[in-house]
Amino acid sequence: MPSEPEQQLRAGGGRAPDVFTPGGWVPMREYGEAEEVDFAIVGTGAGGGTLACRLAEAGFSVVAFDAGAYWRPLEDFASDETEQQKLYWTDRRIVDGSHPLKMGSNNSGKSVGGSTVHFAMVSLRFRPEHFKARSKLGYGVDWPVDWREMWRYYDEVEDALKIAGPVSYPWGPKRGRYPYRAHPMNAAANYLAKGADALGIDWTETPLATLSAPRGKAHPCVYRGFCVTGCSTNAKQSVLVTWLPRALKAGAEIRDLAMVGRIETKNGRATGVHYLRAGAWRFQKAKNVIVAGYAIETPRLLLMSANSEFPDGLANSSGLLGRNLMVQLNQAAWGQVADEVRSYKGPPSLAISEHWNYEDRGKDYFGGWSYMSQGPLPITWAKSLAGGRGLWGQALIDEMARNNHSVGLKMVGEVLPYEHNRVTLSDETDQYGLPVPRITFSLGENEQAMIAHATDFMDRSLEAAGAAERWKEMDDTCHLGGTARMGDDPATSVVDPDCRSWDIPNLWVCDGSVFPTVGGVNPSLTIQALACRLADRVKALC
Ligand SMILES: Cc1cc2nc3c(=O)[nH]c(=O)nc-3n(C[C@H](O)[C@H](O)[C@H](O)COP(=O)(O)OP(=O)(O)OC[C@H]3O[C@@H](n4cnc5c(N)ncnc54)[C@H](O)[C@@H]3O)c2cc1C
Ligand code: SF4
Repeated sequence: MPSEPEQQLRAGGGRAPDVFTPGGWVPMREYGEAEEVDFAIVGTGAGGGTLACRLAEAGFSVVAFDAGAYWRPLEDFASDETEQQKLYWTDRRIVDGSHPLKMGSNNSGKSVGGSTVHFAMVSLRFRPEHFKARSKLGYGVDWPVDWREMWRYYDEVEDALKIAGPVSYPWGPKRGRYPYRAHPMNAAANYLAKGADALGIDWTETPLATLSAPRGKAHPCVYRGFCVTGCSTNAKQSVLVTWLPRALKAGAEIRDLAMVGRIETKNGRATGVHYLRAGAWRFQKAKNVIVAGYAIETPRLLLMSANSEFPDGLANSSGLLGRNLMVQLNQAAWGQVADEVRSYKGPPSLAISEHWNYEDRGKDYFGGWSYMSQGPLPITWAKSLAGGRGLWGQALIDEMARNNHSVGLKMVGEVLPYEHNRVTLSDETDQYGLPVPRITFSLGENEQAMIAHATDFMDRSLEAAGAAERWKEMDDTCHLGGTARMGDDPATSVVDPDCRSWDIPNLWVCDGSVFPTVGGVNPSLTIQALACRLADRVKALC
């Protein structure tokens, strides 16, 4: 049975849920639909939620829409993998290609606060050269931004989220201290450290967006490990509990359970958005529209908004909208150890090595990858054993009984941009009456070579740490990127260096879809840094 916030609007009548108090409310400013607001933002995740805050704080009138519900984590979230599926984007999507992507829990969310409500909180900066992969490293394409500029915005986001990290981060240019101290490592993290030490490479505590000390009304992490199903204590610094309360305070309006189905244009400019809420299609006028629905829903909305002026979809004069879809490789190595590890205790990743993001020698492929200790919850673990090792019936039950002794390492690896990996519209329609997206994806030879290298290396690390009965999980991906690439040239990109459509001057994109390449680290810190950067660009341009 769907729980209440999935059925009933919570934001409205001059108030929005207070995410820090069970049953509580905070005041929310509201705008009339005929009132032409400065910005209509589609999506309130890492990109849209951060931007809504920064634009409202800059004095702009902002209405942000999200198809998902407005949760109060303290009263709505259970420590239960099945119940918490309510946070995932599980609407119908058609997948094909030679490596069809698993959609849903592992790569997209549907909630006020976006995928960050159930993300794993790993908060990393790109290696500077990864912003210029083509000119510095000879693959992919360059970003139209300089790493030094991004470094300033990373500082801002790490402070806004009170990232808990090590005193000294071993990789990359010199940087300041993390705002909060690192979390203590669990047993699984100690195995990463032991293996890395034996192989002679650096490791450190993973920088995480969960509190290691109190912050306002939020308590520190209690290490129960349900982070990827939504944190019920508010220790996790998701967009829902960080940028959005600030956005409301600054006068933004957030409309929950509001699915935007079309952007209207007139005389070459966006005029507002059509959205379905409480069973009726409505229209919000806006001076600017910002799309922040993530790498599937952003191109889908722009394609669905095709009209006689823009017959191939909005922002698509290059023909690249929806193309260059990227994920990240998420293969793993697992093993058994004699001591009771209970890897699932604490955030999934408490130790990391970025060695292979910064070391280019010894590779027969382009790109970088990091690897982290892992702690899957029971259903996820059962799926890994069934899918990765073919265990079923009694064999699966027997292996599950040994779960407390399993240790594992998972990679986050760079997938290159290929035009044939893409999002298009199918002929089927979904529950909103909108075309279902088709997601076509295939790995290339470069990715296969990286997987082989990474899984061998992680396996060697586990062996060096003393793990036996080792096996490799060869089929997993995570995160999304690309499909509305930013660039310097309108012929080879969808948005310009300010994330503004080359074709429609008051239409912008602000989410993971603008990534020209995805690097070898998790993307959310970079998405939030880009959103802060975009807010400053908007202040200069509008
Ligand atoms: C299980 C999991 C673990 C992850 N772990 C990490 C991690 O440890 N570190 C990290 O950096 N990243 C992690 N990520 C990835 C990270 O969460 C995403 O990259 C990031 O949240 C993407 O930001 P975004 O703004 O592009 O999209 P999202 O945060 O997904 O936000 C998009 C929002 O738009 C809404 N939306 C979409 N289309 C419409 C529409 N038409 N109308 C209205 N609303 C719409 C959606 O409901 C959603 O709320 C993880 C993701 C998942 C799923
Ligand atoms: S381990 Fe920490 S961040 Fe994860 S769900 Fe528990 S309290 Fe939240």
